Amino acid sequence: MKDSKIILIGTGAVGSSFAYASTLLGVGRELGIIDINEDKVEGEVMDLTDAISFTKPKNIYKADYSDCKDAEVVVITAGAAQKEGETRLDLVDKNLAIFKEMIGKVVDSGFDGIFLIASNPVDILTYATWKYSGFPASKVIGTGTTLDSSRFKKEIAGLIGIDPRSVEAFIMGEHGDTEFPVWSHTNIGGLPIYEWVRNQSELDEKALLDTFEKSKNAAYEIIKKKGATFYGIGMALTALVRAIIDDENSVYSTSSYLKGEYGLDDIYLGVPTIIGKDGAKWVIEIPLTDIEKENMDKSAQTLKDIIDESHL
Ligand code: NAD
Repeated sequence: MKDSKIILIGTGAVGSSFAYASTLLGVGRELGIIDINEDKVEGEVMDLTDAISFTKPKNIYKADYSDCKDAEVVVITAGAAQKEGETRLDLVDKNLAIFKEMIGKVVDSGFDGIFLIASNPVDILTYATWKYSGFPASKVIGTGTTLDSSRFKKEIAGLIGIDPRSVEAFIMGEHGDTEFPVWSHTNIGGLPIYEWVRNQSELDEKALLDTFEKSKNAAYEIIKKKGATFYGIGMALTALVRAIIDDENSVYSTSSYLKGEYGLDDIYLGVPTIIGKDGAKWVIEIPLTDIEKENMDKSAQTLKDIIDESHL
């Protein structure tokens, strides 16, 4: 396996944002790009390589599936995008068919690295990738609620005037309508958010609760205004690939396989997970309140129903 070799499948808005962010930040030494739209790949390669006299050296090229063989990570952002008024779950059937074919080709190349999935519905497509590939579950990860948690941190940080990186907060569950905030473990510098509210009498509690709704609805709002969301997810993917390539053991709320954690089994969901060179090293089991546990079960049931319906 070649160190720091990334293959990106799908270079639409999300894929190209990931390619750009990871190039600017010097993540990976090699980036091969695959898409059914070959002109788009050629254009992206030309455009991206125009930036590399300003960045760390990087070999960026149009790839084919045989190039996956010795890659460390295969990032998948291919598929139909979410349209206005369409839920992420509406995309299931369209994208399952695309995935079956793509994953088969990646596996046939001899690929033995980490699959990182961003295409929606991400929890279902990550589960499908695990099934179609036959890989150990730890080597198949979805972006899950990584982006949602980042949006949540941004909203809380903006409200209370603090660096988003200093807010410890997770959104868990489905990357979609049943996701939920883990208020019981949200803290700033170790101070639980409840204590923060108690100490700051001028803080508007309703505005704080609204930070979750804003985070949850951000994708719909952005899609309404500009047609698609891509910078946030491009950076989330870059952070996850960096965690894998640099064996960071960083914690992100990826879509990870559960086998008993949170009382759930045989499902991929957004949960805090330690990410390193072997993929999902460890799912962190946060003690949830009764309401949070109920939300988690509801989210899991929603996804299980879809998995059952699609005969995965
Ligand atoms: P897009 O339509 O701009 O790009 C999709 C790309 O996939 C296109 O370039 C298309 O040619 C390519 N493609 C389609 N079928 C293919 C195949 N069989 N093989 C190779 N390439 C193929 O869409 P986008 O805005 O980039 O979104 C991509 C995906 O990412 C969508 O599923 C979207 O919902 C998802 N997304 C996820 C998150 C997240 O947090 N996980 C955030 C934003 C978007």
